[in-house]
Amino acid sequence: MKDLLAKVPTGLLINGEWVTATTGETYDVENPATGEVIATLQSAGSEDAMKALDAACAVQKDWARTPARERSEILRRAFELVTERAEEFATLMTLEMGKPLAEAHGEVKYGAEYLRWFAEEAVRDYGRFTSAPEAGFPMITKRKPVGPCLLITPWNFPLAMATRKVAPAVAAGCTMVLKSARLTPLTAQYFAQTMLDAGLPAGVLNVVSGKSASAISNPLMEDSRLRKVSFTGSTPVGQKLLAKASENVLRTSMELGGNAPFIVFEDADMDKAVKGAMGAKMRNIGEACTAANRFIVHESVVEEFSEKFAAAIRVLKVGNGLEEGVTCGPLVEQAAVDNVAELVDDAVQRGARVLVGGERVEGEGYFYQPTVLVDVPKDARVIREEIFGPVAPIITFSTEDEAIDLANDTEYGLASYVFTEDSSRMYRLSDGLEFGLMGFNSGVISNAAAPFGGVKHSGMGREGAAEGIEEYTSLQYIGVENPYS
Ligand code: NAD
Repeated sequence: MKDLLAKVPTGLLINGEWVTATTGETYDVENPATGEVIATLQSAGSEDAMKALDAACAVQKDWARTPARERSEILRRAFELVTERAEEFATLMTLEMGKPLAEAHGEVKYGAEYLRWFAEEAVRDYGRFTSAPEAGFPMITKRKPVGPCLLITPWNFPLAMATRKVAPAVAAGCTMVLKSARLTPLTAQYFAQTMLDAGLPAGVLNVVSGKSASAISNPLMEDSRLRKVSFTGSTPVGQKLLAKASENVLRTSMELGGNAPFIVFEDADMDKAVKGAMGAKMRNIGEACTAANRFIVHESVVEEFSEKFAAAIRVLKVGNGLEEGVTCGPLVEQAAVDNVAELVDDAVQRGARVLVGGERVEGEGYFYQPTVLVDVPKDARVIREEIFGPVAPIITFSTEDEAIDLANDTEYGLASYVFTEDSSRMYRLSDGLEFGLMGFNSGVISNAAAPFGGVKHSGMGREGAAEGIEEYTSLQYIGVENPYS
């Protein structure tokens, strides 16, 4: 472990060099399974952030002119290097974030796919050539890199959230300043080093993370050279950043919080539904924006579903994600355990019944038992708020319209899941549900080739797919002299 941690740069990445912060300050990174400090990093302040932006701006023109094929090949090499270093990336994620090692390996594959996908998209950034319908003169529409970007990532998917932003920005020809999350910066540090190893020129990607997020983001967003901010994180922080972005009229992509409904109809295949529920709820210890947050189950099958689901939850092994056989790791910090415990206590006080779990796990680290709650009142906090932990509240419905209304009764609109064997119902549900993503008889649907993103308070913009690169480009239209007049 020491050898691996020694490979992770602890400084700030500015213009291709790992440097110390001007603040003279550092911050610690903990292993949430033990509470032990595993690394100490340089903590960037405003001056460092501005140096990072200077570096990004200095190379923006050259980088935009670099042939797409060259940018593509850097991304392809990065994909290969991340894949070669899979064991190291997975171990780092488990160490700093807690997810079980097998899931961390899953994230390495998923995160690396964004590098491969955008290596392929970099050379297919098509424009248009048409003629003005009434006059016949040529009209050219082309895509240009939007310019220097600020990328802000959360702690829950330390690799994938970084590759999902860095890869399309590289593909489009943008330079960037990345601010990773204070709780899990190590993976992003090692990923940035991997991008340099893959041949990314100095200054294209700069990394400044630290104790104070706003000390880094505010001066950057006030600088007119910055052209875009892409943020993944909670809705309240996203709202603050949107307000700030308006001062400088910045392009924004916002991947915010979720409150995903998981609807089980009376005709669903129960084993499929339980398997889907385990993936949608328990992946990443429930700490995912796509995590099923409300189980909305037809009243005629609620008993069967709840019992089968609780049985699957009972066999989860809670513990340090590095240990063999562990399937549910710790939450990221003590505050996360306190929040989950408050939500469960509130539901129980309002009359919910605990089928399994419902308690903190005493001892070292930040653990909460995987939990299933039934008879949950619809106004309980656990139904209204994003849980971000291994807790599954179950409520019931009787008609299809009621299921849709219950599902839509949230300010969020990111992921939704529907389990039914009736394909026409699937189509009706896709019309009725106000969510950017829908899983039909499937609990895990994220993919680099799919457009990921939400509606309502879950944000705006899409990551991945062909749409992902568009977020980093602006359209330019050129009207050409009429060759016939
Ligand atoms: P968070 O909003 O607390 O932090 C996200 C990032 O923003 C971190 O890097 C943090 O340091 C930074 N930040 C915090 N305050 C800031 C400020 N005032 N100015 C600038 N930056 C600031 O979120 P989190 O706890 O790291 O992540 C969990 C949240 O992220 C959940 O709500 C989850 O749903 C959401 N999330 C969304 C997606 C998605 O794609 N929609 C993916 C993963 C996580």
